[in-house]
Amino acid sequence: MTKSSNQRLSPATRLAQALHFKDPETGAVIPAIQPVATYARNEAYETLKPYGYRRDGNQTTAQAEAIIADLEDATESLLFASGMSAANAVIEHLPEGAHVVVPKVMYHGVLNQFKMYQSRNRLDVSYYTAGDLDEMAAAMRKGETQLVWAESPNNPDWEVTDIMAAAEIAHDAGAKLVTDCTGTPPCATRALDLGADISFHSATKYLNGHSDITAGVLSVREVGQYWDDIWNVRNLQGTVLHSFDAWLLIRGMRTLFLRYEKATQNALAIARHFEDHPKLTAVLYPGLPSHKGHAVAKRQTGGMFGGMMSILVKDGEQAAIDVARNCKIFYPATSLGGVESLIEHRKTVSGEGFPVNPTLLRLSIGIEDADDLIRDLEQALTQTNC
Ligand code: PLP
Repeated sequence: MTKSSNQRLSPATRLAQALHFKDPETGAVIPAIQPVATYARNEAYETLKPYGYRRDGNQTTAQAEAIIADLEDATESLLFASGMSAANAVIEHLPEGAHVVVPKVMYHGVLNQFKMYQSRNRLDVSYYTAGDLDEMAAAMRKGETQLVWAESPNNPDWEVTDIMAAAEIAHDAGAKLVTDCTGTPPCATRALDLGADISFHSATKYLNGHSDITAGVLSVREVGQYWDDIWNVRNLQGTVLHSFDAWLLIRGMRTLFLRYEKATQNALAIARHFEDHPKLTAVLYPGLPSHKGHAVAKRQTGGMFGGMMSILVKDGEQAAIDVARNCKIFYPATSLGGVESLIEHRKTVSGEGFPVNPTLLRLSIGIEDADDLIRDLEQALTQTNC
């Protein structure tokens, strides 16, 4: 779906009004949901483009795509049934044996996809330490590397990658840069402006913001054969976002700027409160000046660092699990970017073999009252033997 031409208004205004949506027939300010599996042909026995069958897409999903394309200042966006299926479409469209460069630590599901394709000799994968541009550059093979994946900030350490510098490294070698900035969505990090070729987001998270759908999105400025190939993967696999979920996404995105700003304020207050806490060994949050990626994060997010952070609990793995268990306001659940705050013992979620500190608790800070959240964590730490 192409972007809107209404570029004079601020992105927050355009998003709040879903690109000033108005149903041309009824005047309704909210779009209808089009839950359809098949489309009738006309009298000439032709399909009415662009859809002939559900896997091709639908009008509601296309509206959500137009809104995201506008937000990203992209030429086109494509929505998928999950972040994982969007990532898979990028991987699947690559030719047999393609060389790719990916972080050693990032969202474990996407990392596992790369590892699975590598184990089947379908992809040649080199790894770099997240945020380390020298390692990224050293992993590149000029003229051979096809794709660099960068997650910034990365899960669950919140290391920051300089996207502009990463784009230069990727482009020097003739590769495309794919960014996953799910933790700092396009109201904060403008990945395409910074030089990314494909901006990936798990729209399950901040974009939707209400923990009631899964969705993934890819946005690009340059279209062409590769983009048609990615669309084809979605079509062949049937992973287009369902219209009900697209409708929820449109509703959720209207408040993205508000939700994200409040989550950022809350996270800053929490990070500052717990930074030197005697029961913690670290607070990992790029919004803290002590974080080594702070300056780059500040530039890349305009100071809107988001609600994602991790804390390391002093007395080991069981103590960390107990802190998560003892919270009463934070939900002990996985995922991120919703209005409700979540806490999770990351090692339990990402499984054995994933390189994560066993004392790490990942926090997704929501839009509740910051003092309530601080009190909840304080009482959980006090209750726990650490
Ligand atoms: N990328 C990041 C950074 C994530 O946190 C997640 C999910 O947690 C994904 C990708 C995968 O997205 P989804 O859960 O929508 O499939």
